[in-house]
Amino acid sequence: MGAVPKKQPSDTRKNQRHRAWENSQIQAMHVDLITCSNCGEQTVKHRACLSCGFYKGVAVTEPKAQVRKVSE
Ligand SMILES: [Zn+2]
Repeated sequence: MGAVPKKQPSDTRKNQRHRAWENSQIQAMHVDLITCSNCGEQTVKHRACLSCGFYKGVAVTEPKAQVRKVSE
C-alpha cells in the first residue's frame, strides 16, 4: 500500500482547501477591463471590442450587437 492518510481531514481543513481553490478559480477568471478608444464602452484588454468590433483603431470583427439584430 502506498501513502495513506492517517486521519480524515476535518471540516475546517476541507473548507480551507475549498476556499483556497475557489479563490484560485476567481483569480483565473479575472480579466482586465479598459475603455474602448472607438466607442468608449468597457471592454476586455487585448481583445476586440464587443460592442463595436474595433481593436487598435481597426475594425477586426463584426460587432456582436449588429450580428444579433440581423439574426432576429
Ligand atoms: Zn468599442
